[in-house]
Amino acid sequence: MFPHIFENQDMGRKDRKKKSTHALIWIIFLEILLVMAGLAVVIFVLDDGKGNPDPLVEETVRIDYIEETEETEEETCCVPKPEVDEQLLTVNEWSRPGKKIESLDYIVIHYLANPKTTAQENHDYFESLKDLQNVSMSANYIVGIEGEIIHCVPDDEVAYASNSANSYSISIENCHLDKTGRLTEKTYQSLVNLTAYLSEYYGLGRDQIIRHYDVTGKDCPKYFVDHPDKWEAFLDDVMQVREDCRREAEEEAERIKEEERKAREEAGVDELTAFLESNAAAEPSSD
Ligand SMILES: [Zn+2]
Repeated sequence: MFPHIFENQDMGRKDRKKKSTHALIWIIFLEILLVMAGLAVVIFVLDDGKGNPDPLVEETVRIDYIEETEETEEETCCVPKPEVDEQLLTVNEWSRPGKKIESLDYIVIHYLANPKTTAQENHDYFESLKDLQNVSMSANYIVGIEGEIIHCVPDDEVAYASNSANSYSISIENCHLDKTGRLTEKTYQSLVNLTAYLSEYYGLGRDQIIRHYDVTGKDCPKYFVDHPDKWEAFLDDVMQVREDCRREAEEEAERIKEEERKAREEAGVDELTAFLESNAAAEPSSD
């Protein structure tokens, strides 16, 4: 009986010993795992951002940034270019001498003093001067009764419209219906838009938009000479268009930026970038 008892007791000791050995193996195994995990974290932190699990993600962020910068630089004029009918005159000494202007300091506004004539008729008259050869006359642009715009002489070339100012200005002629020289609503609106576009594009201020009258004292553009308050109102309208376009462009840029931010947020790119940056910031102390 007793040997059996002893034998059972012996068996119990062996069992306990086996169990504690198993536990020890497990503890050692877990410790090894912990050390390995710790090593992985240390290697990641010391890896100078190269620990990025997907190098392509960082590359994409960089490319996005470059594209964004380039787009901003390409932006030259926030005022949309009005629809312009390009009918450049034949180069000839009577209406398009083909000479470059010396500088672009002014936009000079005119009226044609020839009621009811159309922009096309005036363009064709300027073109015919190469054959008539009896007078020198032209303009860079003509705005018609219906608001149509014809481009006759390139912006950087001399047109014969503003006397001494021809070599440093762009000239705009305007069609009208009667002797008063008052512009139709359509002509006025087109003139405002064209002047806003050109002055914004070439970086000219309000005081660089002038009347032919301001150059020579000539009664041109008659309606704006007879009504200086209407001239000031015209300049106000031009500056208002520029301001509105600039604000719209800024709001649009802001909207696009916000959309891109949201898209990045959804893709988790910002979190990844912030994580990488915080790693980079922690690096000097781990030198
Ligand atoms: Zn004039």
